[in-house]
Amino acid sequence: MNKYYIIILAVLLFGCTEEDLPPENNEPIPEEPEVYVVPVVVHVLHSGEEIGQGSNLSEERVRRQIEILNEDFRRKEGTRGFNDHPAGADARIEFVLARQDPEGNPTSGIIRTPADLTNVPDHVPKTEVDLMANFNYWNSESYINIWSAPYDRGIANAHLGSATGPDSDLPGDDRFTKPLPGGAEGIVINRWHFGESTLEGGHNLGRTLTHEMGHYLGLLHTWGTGDCETNDYCEDTPAVDEIVTSSISFIGCAGERVMIANYMNYTHDHVMNIFTRDQIQRMRYVLETSPRRNSLLDSKGLEAP
Ligand SMILES: [Zn+2]
Repeated sequence: MNKYYIIILAVLLFGCTEEDLPPENNEPIPEEPEVYVVPVVVHVLHSGEEIGQGSNLSEERVRRQIEILNEDFRRKEGTRGFNDHPAGADARIEFVLARQDPEGNPTSGIIRTPADLTNVPDHVPKTEVDLMANFNYWNSESYINIWSAPYDRGIANAHLGSATGPDSDLPGDDRFTKPLPGGAEGIVINRWHFGESTLEGGHNLGRTLTHEMGHYLGLLHTWGTGDCETNDYCEDTPAVDEIVTSSISFIGCAGERVMIANYMNYTHDHVMNIFTRDQIQRMRYVLETSPRRNSLLDSKGLEAP
């Protein structure tokens, strides 16, 4: 082998530093995949206040929450949901307030229901989603149910929200929070964390719903079960073996810097701004293949009656 070939070989082997390479997963996402539009219904459960007071959230606050959800999922420029991280992308998934209810009537997609959480009949299963669904529930074939839960101030920052996960053949499926057989599915958001507010504690910019929607569409937390081996089944979210709450960058597994800005952490809302390509692939796959997710794309709730 002469000197010339050795130089070429050296360039081939060492010419690219790790920083030059694209993120680990090079699975091409088609240039402009279809935008999936999904109808949601927001059940504002309240304690009897006037509209816009206390737990009876204003229409403006609900609409702004859905707008934030779309800013984050569409990585919209000029909003907090934008990022220019090489692993980040536009999920091309959008959410609209339902325009038609299950009976075929026009709707704003915002349903207000008085709810006394201390007075739930014994036959209702004790899961959080089933408790909320007891007050109002639309079929999950056609709508994503989102409840704003009228919890007391004392629970703010202690419990933010929860979501049921999809039926899928994705790796990690066994770790989703599944609905009970025949039970309700959806997303519960503690009303203190619903939309934007002046609530102190770091969870006041509407990202609780972004995070829970990630679960509803098949994402796990970035730390998975908390070891370096089985994490979230996304190659482009650096592995980390502890719950990520920090707003300050730190090193996780394999000497990699933890992606603290990922929506699937417990970091503060102002820190979050990224879904990665692998995460987006999982969510789009769920919308394409999972029962009660795929059917959302053809829901009559998308159209005015
Ligand atoms: Zn979570």
